[in-house]
Amino acid sequence: MDFRLSPAQAAFQQEVTAVADELAAPGGPDLRADPEYNEHVRMELAKRKWLAMPWPKEYGGLGASPMQQMLYNETMSYRRVPAGNMGVWWVGPALILYGNDEQKERFLPRITNGDDVWCTLYSEPGAGSDLAALQTRAVRDGDDYIINGQKIWTSGAHRSNWGWLAARTDPDAPKHRGMSMFCVPMDAPGLSIRPLVNMTGNHEFNEVFFDNVRVPATQRVGEENRGWYTLAVALDFERSSIGSTAGAHRTIDDFVELVRSGRAVLTEQTRNRLSDCAISVQVLRFIGYRIAAEQEQTGIAPTLLAQMAKLSAMELNQKISSMTMQVLGMEGQAHPADSVAEAYTHAFLRSVANTIEGGTSEIQRNVIATRGLGLPRG
Ligand SMILES: Cc1cc2nc3c(=O)[nH]c(=O)nc-3n(C[C@H](O)[C@H](O)[C@H](O)COP(=O)(O)OP(=O)(O)OC[C@H]3O[C@@H](n4cnc5c(N)ncnc54)[C@H](O)[C@@H]3O)c2cc1C
Repeated sequence: MDFRLSPAQAAFQQEVTAVADELAAPGGPDLRADPEYNEHVRMELAKRKWLAMPWPKEYGGLGASPMQQMLYNETMSYRRVPAGNMGVWWVGPALILYGNDEQKERFLPRITNGDDVWCTLYSEPGAGSDLAALQTRAVRDGDDYIINGQKIWTSGAHRSNWGWLAARTDPDAPKHRGMSMFCVPMDAPGLSIRPLVNMTGNHEFNEVFFDNVRVPATQRVGEENRGWYTLAVALDFERSSIGSTAGAHRTIDDFVELVRSGRAVLTEQTRNRLSDCAISVQVLRFIGYRIAAEQEQTGIAPTLLAQMAKLSAMELNQKISSMTMQVLGMEGQAHPADSVAEAYTHAFLRSVANTIEGGTSEIQRNVIATRGLGLPRG
């Protein structure tokens, strides 16, 4: 494969780089979690129709090619610009496939113009890896459904105005068959949100409670009781996103700079670990380019390769974070606010969640083994 960019691709990359440099957060992780900064970035990208770049033009996208999307993701993540959200990554794509015309007209433009922010309401205290076991009930009542139950680990629920909900509509059917998908306004009467603070001290996710929440039946997406299939496709969109190693690439580059400046000292062992991480970043980067190139040629995303790349990238993030902690030693563990270690300590603590969010590594390996490699279920 030829990894050189065409003149048009190189010009596009330059254009994105100029905007990404303008939007890049001057501060550390705290600023990137800042809602005002996130909104500013969202609106700036929406103005350029870049938020949902690959979507068809009729829905507010640019019909961008997979390679353009890949260059965009890579450039934005390298500069740590929060360039997407759940609405763009999987709710919108699932609506494009399974929503009716009215739902597409109502929801898609508000995602691409940055007005609506979505959260994902799947996990429950008793249903995570085994999502089909979810118990939140949606009971038909005239033109509405009445929702009761609890969700957990809902990222960004407190900053979203819409929720993408999986709920049980037929408790007597086999568990994969009695489920439906809904669009729920997060300010609906009876819906309440309770914060959960993670071990970095940030409030990212929440518990969400439904107490007789009424949702019009027009906000059910797809057929009643067929929601599992919509959910599975949305999960594929979530797990096969491309261009996700650029953040790790940036961490390696910054860390190398720190070592060169003498503010962190390597032993022979940590030097080898750092080199190994740098090699893995490059390998995954080229796999990302191959995924985009294949998708460009065939029109179909090689989902097995994309899932493998995503799983490896998440595990690599943890490997890099653990390597930086070993090099920084006691300073890394002290976590003083003005220390060079601060960003690395934060990244180390946050990286623990990488192999859980969006489906654990074990579950992703199961999916790769059965759906990708055709192996029998264990
Ligand atoms: C930072 C973060 C953000 C999140 N955001 C959201 C969100 O926005 N919306 C949402 O709905 N959810 C969200 N989640 C929840 C996430 O999807 C679940 O935590 C995840 O799917 C695992 O489910 P669980 O926590 O119930 O663990 P469990 O399913 O109880 O798993 C516990 C352990 O058992 C292992 N295990 C379970 N089943 C199997 C199996 N069949 N084979 C092998 N091993 C198995 C798992 O790999 C894991 O190690 C988030 C989680 C995190 C950490």
